[in-house]
Formats: sequence, structure tokens, C-alpha cells
Amino acid sequence: MSSKTNTDIPSDLLPTLGPYVTGSTTALMALGIIGGWAGESWRSVLGIILLQFFGGVFLGILTRGWKNVAALRYTNGFFHLITTTAIVMITGGYPSPFWLVFLVGVVVPGILMDRTGVYLVLPFAAVALAVPQLSIGIDIQIAMGISMQLFILFFTGLIIQRTAAWLFKEQEKHQQAEESLRQSNDQLTLSIAQLEQHTREVRLLTEMGGMLHTSTTNEELYGIISYYMQELFPSKIGALFIYSPSRNDLESAATWGNFPAENHVRIFSPDECWALRQGQIYQQDASRSGLHCPHVKRLKSNNYLCVPLIARGEALGILHVQFSMDESTAVLTTPTRTIEAVLSLAASVAEYVALALANQALRETLRNQAIRDPLTGLFNRRYAEETLDREIQRATRKQTPLSVISLDIDHFKLFNDTYGHDAGDVVLQNVGMLLKTLCRGEDVACRYGGEEFLLIMSDISLEIAQQRAETLREGMKSLSIVYKGQPLGITSSFGVAAFPKTATNKEKLLHVADAALYQAKTSGRDCVVTAAQIEGGESQATKA
Ligand code: GH3
Ligand code: MG
Ligand code: MG
Repeated sequence: MSSKTNTDIPSDLLPTLGPYVTGSTTALMALGIIGGWAGESWRSVLGIILLQFFGGVFLGILTRGWKNVAALRYTNGFFHLITTTAIVMITGGYPSPFWLVFLVGVVVPGILMDRTGVYLVLPFAAVALAVPQLSIGIDIQIAMGISMQLFILFFTGLIIQRTAAWLFKEQEKHQQAEESLRQSNDQLTLSIAQLEQHTREVRLLTEMGGMLHTSTTNEELYGIISYYMQELFPSKIGALFIYSPSRNDLESAATWGNFPAENHVRIFSPDECWALRQGQIYQQDASRSGLHCPHVKRLKSNNYLCVPLIARGEALGILHVQFSMDESTAVLTTPTRTIEAVLSLAASVAEYVALALANQALRETLRNQAIRDPLTGLFNRRYAEETLDREIQRATRKQTPLSVISLDIDHFKLFNDTYGHDAGDVVLQNVGMLLKTLCRGEDVACRYGGEEFLLIMSDISLEIAQQRAETLREGMKSLSIVYKGQPLGITSSFGVAAFPKTATNKEKLLHVADAALYQAKTSGRDCVVTAAQIEGGESQATKA
């Protein structure tokens, strides 16, 4: 009997069929002996069965190292056919029922789709059936019997071979359909996951954009950026670096995750970052170790993205996103997120952030322009009056004092007339700087108009305000202003008033402060005059 290994058939079929083939052949022969088919020759038959069994085992061991499957198959097959033929011949050939083992011989190659195997069985069967008859002479009846049996063998083998081939083909088609279904299912699952991921990113981006758009301070912006960076990126570590006003270096304005707290990683110069140098995203992973941005070397991180923040053609800073594992893209990339997707997400985030930062800077400039005096950098009159309204309400509510100092530079016109308008401007700028230096953070110093200034001080009593005015007066006097090599010395006159001690509303407060200032002017200038306490009516100014 021949066995077969066809690459088209499932590779595990042969070993599965093996025991059945050997088992059914042996069982059939054993039954034959018990059933008396072997007659007197049962010992010889038994001997051959044993030979077939042990010979098969021996041959199996002998040929186990063979690489040529066809040679192995036919060697074993031949051996079995020879022994089977011998048995059938010993038991008398036709019409011995032992020939049925040839049926097994054609059925098995038939199942294995090996037509050559089917053909090979036939000559052996013919020999086994016909040879024992030769000695007694073959008559037509015997010849027909033998032919019939050979035909049965042949057709059985062919039909089984055809059926098996068809079945395998169907099974294969089914498996292919199943495989392609599984693949498209996997693809669909992945696409859905990608879509979900994308939807989430778009939602987060929109959300972030909305919040950035409506935030009013830089601190709010930084908080929003930190939060959304952690939501959008697989890594939880990073920082937002912003150019310092001098544009000499970049400083971390916001950090997230475990970004190091040390100062030396939080400040670096613009040429220490490849992203800023090239004006495009710089991605670093383990495959390119050694090409780190110098500022990242200190961070000892192998995987990161530096995304430049550029708005209206101006670089504002970078978004630095670190990826914690050293094994490169494994962290960056998931089945639902390719590195390209991460980079494009980073670019979108950077666009939002850059625009928000630029808008915030613009808003800040506009706001400053609206509330500040451009020459001195102090608040303007409108802002001062608004502040005064607010602070008086607060002082009323909290029952705390509020003082104002009105001051005017003495003979200021002289500077203009003598040295020109520019000299006057320089004096005003210097006075502005002095006021800023001598004021508390909560004081509001403003240029009230021309060379007149107003200082609003919450929680400050009239007496303290008077002392502060004195300090300012001395400060003014000791200001060393130099214009074109010419020293310009100035003095100022001061009027001090307090709410509610010397005036009970904003208008009166400004009025009495102004009156005190006027009195300081008429009293010879370079002095402080304090509005006197209200005693049932008009306040009286008193010179300090
Ligand atoms: P007094 O001691 O009485 O205050 O005399 P004064 O000269 O300081 O006062 P006056 O009100 O006569 O003159 C104020 C001058 O300040 C008039 C105006 O030309 C000048 N001035 C107002 N605003 C500016 C400014 O922005 N720059 C310059 N350079 N001069 C200004
Ligand atoms: Mg003046
Ligand atoms: Mg004046």
C-alpha cells in the first residue's frame, strides 16, 4: 500500500490516517485468520502479519531521517503491498477475501488524493489474485472474477480520490473564506479603534481649542496645555518651553508628569533644540540615539518629540513630549496609532497652542495699551478712576481706609522750554520708574495727566500715606536724571487725602487731594500737604 504527502492536503492528515491504515489492515488480516480465510496456511499468514508489523516499525525507524517524502512513502507502501500480496497469494489468491486489504490500499491514497498510489495497488493486486491461479489454469470465469475485483479496486480508488479532492477543495475554499472574513473583521475592528481614537483626539483638540480661546491669562493657558497634553499623548511627561522676553533663552512655562524640577533642564538656548533650528517637528527615538537635542541630553531621554510653536511667522517656543521607555516606537505606536498619526496630532496641538499663546500676547498688549500710559508705563487716568471706584467700594465694605497721593512735578515746563520736549519726556520716564520702584504691589500708580501723577493705596491710613508721600518727595529730589550729559534735578509737590477720613466719595477724594496739592504749590512747592479731617463739612488742608 502506498501512502502520500501532498502539499495540498492538510499536513496532519497523514499521521492521523497512519494508525487507521495499519490498524484496519492488521485487523482485517487477523479477522481473516480467525475466520478461517487463511485455512491451513494461517501460520504463514500470521508470520507475514508479524513481519509486516515489525518490518513496518523497522522501516519506519530506518527511514525516519529521510528528507524525500515521496521516496519514504513509496518505500513503505511497496513493503506493505509486497507483504499483502504474499498473504493473498498464500491463501490462494482469487477469491480469497484477503484481497480486501487491497481495498484499504486504494482507499487510503484515494483519500490522500494520490492517483499514482491507486494505480500502484492494481498490479500488486493483479499479481496476488492471478498468480496462485496460474498453476491450475485460469478459466474465463476466474479471469472475469479477477478483473471484476481489479475494477472494483480501481473505481473505488478513483471515486474516493475524486471525492476527497472535491472535499478538500471545498474545505480549502471554506477556510479561505473564513480567513478572509477573519482578516476583514480584524481590519474592521482596527479601523473602528482607529476611528474611535481619532474621534477622541478631535474631541479633545476641539475642547482644548475652546478652552484656550476663552482663557484670559497665561497661567490659565499653561494649565490647559498641561492637562490636554497628558490626555492626548501616550506619554505623561513633557514641558512647554517659551522664549524669554529677551529671546536669548527658552524657559519651561508649564510641565506635566514627572518632568525634572532641576533648573538646568528648564532653561536652554534656542540653538540647543533641533526643532527650533529647523523650524519643524524633531522626533528622536532609540534608532537615532546620539542625535539628541543638546537640551534633551541633560534629560537622559532617548525618545521624545520637540514641536516648534510658530504663530504668524514667529517662533514662540516648543512643546517637548517625552516617551518614558527607551525601546523607541513601541511606546509611541500602538495598533491604533502610527507614528505618523502621533506626529500629525503633535502638529495640530502645536498649532492650537501657538495661536493661543500669540492671541494671549496680543490681548495682553492691547489690554496694556488700553490701561497703561505708553511713556511712563504707569496706569492711565481711566484705569485709575475705575480702580478708585472699585477700591472705595471695597474699603466701604471692609471698613478699611484708602489713601491717595496726588503729585505734580514742579516747574516742569522749564525742562521743556530749556532742553526741549524730549528732555521733559526723559524726566517723566524717570519719575514713572521711581514710582514703580517705591510702590507696593497692590498700589496703583498712574499718570493722571501731563506731569501729574496719582497713587492709590488700599488699606493705608492718612498718616501712613503722608509718610509715603514724604519718602516719595525725597526720592524725587534725589533722582539723578541725565539728559544729553546734562543733569536734570527735579522736585515735586504732593497732596494727600484719605477715604473716608477726608472725603466720603471718589469725586471729593480727588478734589481734596488736588486742593492739598494746590496748597503745596502755593506754599512754595517741594512739600507734602495733607487734607485735614472732615469736621461736618469742608476739609482743611494742612502742610506737613
Ligand atoms: P508747576 O510747578 O506749577 O506745576 O509748573 P509746571 O511748569 O510744572 O506746570 P505747567 O502746568 O505750567 O506745565 C506743565 C507742562 O507739562 C505743560 C506741557 O507742555 C508739559 N507736558 C504735558 N505733557 C507732557 C509730555 O507728555 N511730555 C512733555 N515733555 N511735556 C509735557
Ligand atoms: Mg507741574
Ligand atoms: Mg501740572
